[in-house]
Amino acid sequence: MPDPGLLLILVAAIGIGWWLGRMERRHYRYHGRRLHRADQLSRDYFVGLNFLLNEQHDRAIETFVQALEVNGDTIDTHIALGNLFRMRGEADRAVRIHQNLLARPALSIEQSEQVQLELAQDFMHLGVLDRAERLLASLSADCENDQTRNAARRLMVDLFEREKEWQAALNVALPHLIRHHSTLRSAAAHWLCELAEQDIEQGSPGGARKRLKQAMSIDAGCVRANWLNADIEHRAGHYRAEIRFLGRIREQDSDMVPITLAPIERAFDLLEDEQGLIDFLREQLAHAPYVSFVLLLAERLRQREGAASATALVSEQLQRHPSLRGIDYLMDLYLQQAVDDEVAHLSLLKRHTEQLMAQRSRFRCKSCGFQGDRLHWHCPSCRRWGTIKPITGLEGE
Ligand SMILES: [Zn+2]
Repeated sequence: MPDPGLLLILVAAIGIGWWLGRMERRHYRYHGRRLHRADQLSRDYFVGLNFLLNEQHDRAIETFVQALEVNGDTIDTHIALGNLFRMRGEADRAVRIHQNLLARPALSIEQSEQVQLELAQDFMHLGVLDRAERLLASLSADCENDQTRNAARRLMVDLFEREKEWQAALNVALPHLIRHHSTLRSAAAHWLCELAEQDIEQGSPGGARKRLKQAMSIDAGCVRANWLNADIEHRAGHYRAEIRFLGRIREQDSDMVPITLAPIERAFDLLEDEQGLIDFLREQLAHAPYVSFVLLLAERLRQREGAASATALVSEQLQRHPSLRGIDYLMDLYLQQAVDDEVAHLSLLKRHTEQLMAQRSRFRCKSCGFQGDRLHWHCPSCRRWGTIKPITGLEGE
């Protein structure tokens, strides 16, 4: 794929060429005396093209910027050049170009607002967030163009999210944006979950429950809301209610079921309800036979009925759903009954499967492929919410 930066320079170069051509045509028609200026510009233009062809992109851009006068015809090209610098990671140069543009009287109100929007993005790239926020707040409130105003609000939400100012992000997104953006609905539900977590930590479960209810009303598929409701019930010692909330996650997103196993096991143990746990696990396996559930049920059966029941269960599940962890567990069972040479052979095999399992991550982002060993609600790589799920299949769940 061609470098997007290079493409932009080419577009800018073509734009300048077109403008020069137009200027010269005008000149011949109306103003013979401006020929000298047009000649100078043409020279700069070809010098710039020469730098471009020699892959001296920085010098090409500098030449084009110097060659361009700021007027009604070239404002878009200046904006594009500023954006190009920002894309190349040189936001300070982008700021200079966009600020220089803003000072020009030739700008219409719409163009001025467009330049302010770009300038806000330059400041965000530079990390000067207070200046970006001031520009965006003014555009969000007073901007005449709907598209620019919504773009400013969207950027404001990004800025607040980056600063973890969840309530401020909600204040902008809820009244204006979430109706039109499904990804923002999912994000807004997570911001409410972030605030609910703060409530839980500060000993205010009532406040947290209200926020989680609001999160579910914005995004009924918000797994984290049920996950946190379960946490609130656990802290209050209401283990049946905890299990009920965790059970709802299966209806929301069956891919997330594996994360519920550990707290469900803990809740049944605190209730001292072994039979309840076994019934729950059997029922779950009929829906989705995740290996963690198979292994927990096998282990409980082994303790109650002996190794034969556990071996039968795991063997049957492995035939239908092959799994590295299932094989590893089965080898453990065989090792307990092995004699003489069998022990050495099985131990060797087990070492290999353990090495294979140790190299695998447990979670993966469905959006960008980021992998890790713990669950993040907010992907640290692509910054999307709720896209990281347990890895399933032969080497995972
Ligand atoms: Zn991601």
